[in-house]
Amino acid sequence: RGSCASDSSDSVISTGSETDSQVYKVVLLGEHGVGKSSLARVFGGLEDAGNTYDRSIFVDEEEASILLYDIWEQEQCMRMGDAYIIVYSVTDKSSFEKASELRIQLRRARQSENIPIILVGNKSDLVRSREVSVDEGSACAVVFDCKFIETSASLHHNVHALFEGIVRQIRLRKDSKEE
Ligand code: GDP
Ligand code: MG
Repeated sequence: RGSCASDSSDSVISTGSETDSQVYKVVLLGEHGVGKSSLARVFGGLEDAGNTYDRSIFVDEEEASILLYDIWEQEQCMRMGDAYIIVYSVTDKSSFEKASELRIQLRRARQSENIPIILVGNKSDLVRSREVSVDEGSACAVVFDCKFIETSASLHHNVHALFEGIVRQIRLRKDSKEE
């Protein structure tokens, strides 16, 4: 429980490359309290064991199944994702610094691979208590060579765009690998 080492979902869902709609494993990373579980709940879908969410979405008229992992032991999960969402809270500078650490850890764990990552500044609705500007967030994403988006799980703002973005990123990398 709370770990992705015992991944029981594989026995239920076919991840074979023959299937029409591919299952993408997406892992949420980030400090406690930044809104990972809130984003996962807004994303929705079937919840399994309280930490994975299974849902299909249409992106560019093509279906994609996402298995979203919202887990405790993040270190163990650096090796299993097809894509990563690194979340910080725009109201918490230390969570922003933690996001950079996680990016570095990910790079170490998956050195030769070009894994899609999206940096997410959540809680954009909390204007008065903001500690990290949009510019700081996007500059960080440039340095870390990943996409960037600000979201508000509370207002459901940009949450759908975030998951569409993840699917597009995964498809782009897969396509360029096949050529
Ligand atoms: P996690 O520890 O990363 O899973 O964070 P949670 O999803 O449990 O959220 C931590 C707290 O932040 C909860 O009280 C949420 O209601 C609140 N929260 C999460 N997302 C937002 C948001 O976008 N805006 C605001 N105002 N609060 C949020
Ligand atoms: Mg949580």
